[in-house]
Amino acid sequence: MNADAKPILVIGGGIAGITAAVEAAEVGYRVVLVEKEAYLGGRVMRMYRYFPKMCPPTCGFEINARRIRQNPRIVVHTQSTVEELSGTAGDFKVRIRKRPRYVTGKCSVDDSVLERLTSTRVNDFNQGMDETKALYYPHDMAYPPIHVLDREALSEADEELLKEICPPEALDLEMEEEELKIGVGAVIVATGWQPYDATKLEHLKFGKCPNVLTNVMMERLAARGGPTRGEITRPSDGKSAENVAFVQCAGSRDENHLPYCSAVCCMASMKQARYLREKNENAKATIFYIDIRAVGRLEKFYFDLLEDSNISFVKGKVAEINEHPETRDLILDVEDTLSGEKLNQTFDLVVLATGIVPNSAETKLPIELKYDDYGFIDGTTSIDGVYAAGCATRPCDVSRTTKDSTAAALKAIQCLNRGE
Ligand code: SF4
Repeated sequence: MNADAKPILVIGGGIAGITAAVEAAEVGYRVVLVEKEAYLGGRVMRMYRYFPKMCPPTCGFEINARRIRQNPRIVVHTQSTVEELSGTAGDFKVRIRKRPRYVTGKCSVDDSVLERLTSTRVNDFNQGMDETKALYYPHDMAYPPIHVLDREALSEADEELLKEICPPEALDLEMEEEELKIGVGAVIVATGWQPYDATKLEHLKFGKCPNVLTNVMMERLAARGGPTRGEITRPSDGKSAENVAFVQCAGSRDENHLPYCSAVCCMASMKQARYLREKNENAKATIFYIDIRAVGRLEKFYFDLLEDSNISFVKGKVAEINEHPETRDLILDVEDTLSGEKLNQTFDLVVLATGIVPNSAETKLPIELKYDDYGFIDGTTSIDGVYAAGCATRPCDVSRTTKDSTAAALKAIQCLNRGE
């Protein structure tokens, strides 16, 4: 091991970045982990459960958070972005911009403080389906375990109230943005993904009909920390969703939107149909699909669902969704391609299986990387010493992501040890 090795920079604090960081740090390398959100965990933290074991993300995250907390070789910067990156393998220079949190973490903020505030903000953790106070705790398992203040959402009256009721060392309302300049030896890009913008799928009426949701919203609806405390209900009237349609390939495998298969959304809908059935024994789910992608051991999950008489699979692409003006039920027009029958079915709730878009399609890192036509990064990248992992490189599930990240950590370690 090269005792003089510079740290490894990991960009992105989701499951890909966390895995790469702990793997490298636990064999003795220093790591700087940079995350743009106020907390680590990324998209996986927002799921209710995930494959292969259908466990809640909190289980694995608790272990990872402990590994990070107990390892002095890992330095975490949240609310931070990489603004400049230059140099060569073994010797990169990085400039990091760190936005102010306004909460110092020196002492805890009492819940009674939050209750007295009136200013609120949209809760992005719950996919915008509810609000938090302007001073908020990102989610139950947040790491770092520190509140955040949304300064823009805070009213003047609440600012005065906070000055009055908070211990003076808890907040720093004058906290300023910081700029950090560091040297690193290798870089792992784990910038993750975002769901395809479903408002672009005009025929499916997302954003126009409140009872049309996306699959990432469904995860939060099913989760105990979600906007309905885990009840799968209709946003329009709060009634329990008894009859739910899942529309597959919403955006994916479509030349006008995302020409590729997003790989995980067949299994995501099947998992969510299972949530529905577990929470309500009378509920029914219908999955409208073009092809079912359930590979390896996951195929058994699909076969098990086929045994459930309350879950139907219909091979056909949904042509249009319309809303009943009074009930706000949703009427789906679709042709069953196996029977040739034109269907016109009504549902309480529709979940769109929206696809995966790499964050790197919109936000490029300040270094010349090789991207494919859709914005995914070449895993080995065109730059020696820079390696990409997880959904930054292609749509993939948690299990493949963690394997990718371990491989990226190994490549970064090899880079630091060249010439030893
Ligand atoms: Fe469509 Fe399934 Fe591929 Fe997702 S995984 S794009 S729903 S075929």
